Amino acid sequence: MSLIPYSSGLKIYERMPPKMRRTVGSLMRPVPRRMLLGNGFQEQLKDLRASEYWTREELERYQVKRLRALLAHAERSVPYYHDLFRAAKLDSATADLRSLKELPVLTKDIIRSEHDRLRAVNSPEFHPGEANTTGSTGRPLRFLVDQQTREVEHAAVWRHYLGSGISGLDGRIASFRGDFVSERSGGPLWRWDGRVKELTFNTYVLDQDNVRKMVDELDRFHPEAMRGYPHSLFILSTKMEASGLRLGFVPRFVHTSSEQLPRHMRETIERVLGCPVRDWYSQSEYVISAGECSEGTYHQTMETGIVRIQEDAWGMERLIGTGLWNMSMPFINYEIGDHVAIGEEDCPCGRKHLVLGSIEGRVNDVIVTADGNALSGVGIDNFYEKEVIPALAGAPEYMKLVQDGIASYTVEAFRSAGLAESDEQSIKKAFRALLGQEADITVKTLDKMPDQKKWKNVESRLSPEDIARLLRERSG
Ligand SMILES: [Zn+2]
Repeated sequence: MSLIPYSSGLKIYERMPPKMRRTVGSLMRPVPRRMLLGNGFQEQLKDLRASEYWTREELERYQVKRLRALLAHAERSVPYYHDLFRAAKLDSATADLRSLKELPVLTKDIIRSEHDRLRAVNSPEFHPGEANTTGSTGRPLRFLVDQQTREVEHAAVWRHYLGSGISGLDGRIASFRGDFVSERSGGPLWRWDGRVKELTFNTYVLDQDNVRKMVDELDRFHPEAMRGYPHSLFILSTKMEASGLRLGFVPRFVHTSSEQLPRHMRETIERVLGCPVRDWYSQSEYVISAGECSEGTYHQTMETGIVRIQEDAWGMERLIGTGLWNMSMPFINYEIGDHVAIGEEDCPCGRKHLVLGSIEGRVNDVIVTADGNALSGVGIDNFYEKEVIPALAGAPEYMKLVQDGIASYTVEAFRSAGLAESDEQSIKKAFRALLGQEADITVKTLDKMPDQKKWKNVESRLSPEDIARLLRERSG
C-alpha cells in the first residue's frame, strides 16, 4: 500500500519524473514535516490527541454522532444505501451502534458489482482519490478514499508515533518498506523521500554487505524511530545479528505495519535493534485501525471506525467495520476479511478504546528468490499491481505465487473470461524478472475461483528451516 499524498502540493511532487523528484526532494529538505502534512492533518491530530484518554461513554457518544451524520449522508447521496435503508426501515436520526446489526454486510463482491451505486452523487466535494487493494483478498478491489479520510488516518498513525515516544512532528524516521519494488536490485541502497521526509531503505537488496552499509547510514542519520514491514525489519535484524552488527544508537521504537507480525519476528527485531516494537493494524480501505500501546494491547481507533464481530460460515469471528469519515464511498458494515477477538480488560495505559486481541489477517508466507531476497505478500502485491497486471490483456481475478522448491514456483491464476496463452507467457516473463532468470515457473490456470478459509497470495512449501538456510547461504 503506497502512501497517499496529503495535500495538492505533494500530488504534483508524486507526478514528477524520479530525477526531478530527487532534486525537489533535496530542496524541500529544510522544510519541516509539520508544514508538509497540511492543516487538515494538523487539526485531525489535535482532535485525536484530545480524545486519546476519553472514557468509553464519551467515545461511544462521539461514534453515534458521527454515525448518524454518515447514515444521513448515505441515505441522501449514495444510491445503494438509499435503497438499502428504505428496505431496512432505518431512521438515520435515531440510529445507534446497535442499528448496524439490522443492516446487511457490505462484501467485497458487492463493492465490485455495485461500485457506481456506492459512489456518492456529490463525491467530488470530498476530493476523493482512487485507491485499490489486491492480494490479501485475492481479487482486486477499487474504491474511493476522501481527502479527510486520509488525513484522519494519517493523524491516527501519528498519535500512535507520539504515544510511542517520538519527540514531535519533525522527529527523524527511517523506513524499510516496499518503496523500491520497481527498481529492486537495480536501485540505490537508500533514498531521501521528500513526500514524507523519511530516509527510505531498499528492502529488496538486504544482503550482508548492503546491510553493513545501511547500518553505517542509520548511525549517521540517527533516526528516532524506524518503521517498516515486519519481514523486512526481521531480515535486516537477522543479517545484522549474523555479522555481529549493532546500531550505534537506540531507536525509541520500531513501528511495524501492513503484515501479520509473528512472535519470532517481533522477538528478533526487539533483541537486535534494542527497542520495543509497536505494531499498527489497518487496511487500504481505511475502515478499522488499531495501534499497540506500551502494554502490548491493540487499541482500536474508535474515533474513525466502528467494530462489529460476526461469526462466519467457518465458525470464526470476522471483523465487520464501519468507517466514519469516508463520504465519497461510505463503507458501512464492511466485511474486512480479517479475524479478530474483542478483549475485555481495562488496559493499565489508561486508554479506554476497544481492545482487539489476536488479529489474524494477511496470513502470508515468505518466498526466497535465487539471489536470496525474501518477498512477502505485501511485496508480491505491489509487484502484481505494478508489473504483472499492466502486462496482461485481461487482469485475473485471482493470482497466487507458490514456492514449490528451491528454484521452482507455480503461479496459480483464475480469470472468469479465461486467460490467453500470451498472458500465461507474460506472467512467466514478469515473474522470471522477479525470481531470477533460472527460476522454473509454471503457470497453472484454475477453472474456478478457489474457496479458501484464509486468503494467501504467497505460499511457501519449503520448511521454515530451509527458508532460514537459503536466506543465509544465498546472500551471505
Ligand atoms: Zn493500553
